[in-house]
Amino acid sequence: MKKRSLKVFVDFDGTITLEDVGEAIFRKFGSAEKTDRIVDDLLSDKISSRQCWDELCDSIDKINKQELNDFIDSLEIDPTFIPFVRFCNDKEIELVVLSDGFDHYIDRIFSKADLTDLKYYSNKLYVDINGKLSAEYPHYDADSPTSANCKKNHIITHSSDDDYTIYIGDGNSDKEAAQYCDFIFAKKGLLKFCSTERISFYPFKNFDDVQNKLIELINKKNLRKRHQAELKRKSAYTAE
Ligand SMILES: [Mg+2]
Repeated sequence: MKKRSLKVFVDFDGTITLEDVGEAIFRKFGSAEKTDRIVDDLLSDKISSRQCWDELCDSIDKINKQELNDFIDSLEIDPTFIPFVRFCNDKEIELVVLSDGFDHYIDRIFSKADLTDLKYYSNKLYVDINGKLSAEYPHYDADSPTSANCKKNHIITHSSDDDYTIYIGDGNSDKEAAQYCDFIFAKKGLLKFCSTERISFYPFKNFDDVQNKLIELINKKNLRKRHQAELKRKSAYTAE
């Protein structure tokens, strides 16, 4: 039997980390009230993710870079993520992190956890000499308003017809991308979305749950891809 090729795509904020780092930064250094209002606008589709980040950056007049870094360093990743990365390496499963957050904190958090080899795609955050925040979106696609870093496009470029694609996520920026994958692991907002939209998924609490399920899938005789995901991918290929 030909070895199955699995590709794993993982969200960062609230999935790899215990809390949403991006939002936590704006809540702490800006106004919690304003942050909630802007995020509510995003969640009710009044604004795009890109607009959300731009408004959040504008909501902070000045940030102290050292204090920002100290705060980032105080945040934790899910302890089950590190053994999960090891598991993927051992099984030669490609793992790509897709974040609608920012390189600045992902770099710090991965480096602290000794995970600098991980491939990730995200937006970029800058702090200028006056402490003003600004964002850049190198992977933006106007067709994907729910994630300023178009996660769907990364899935399309990083997988082929032979691959079984797996998505692991928790929130708004995962809603579109997850639908392009054969197996979805969902918690919180993504779980609610998949239930409402009748998209099949596995609920998960941490990466131990994901790993156990993946072992089952790897050992399954007949592993079927999700038909709706195949259709989505096919239409994306032909649109290119
Ligand atoms: Mg998230």
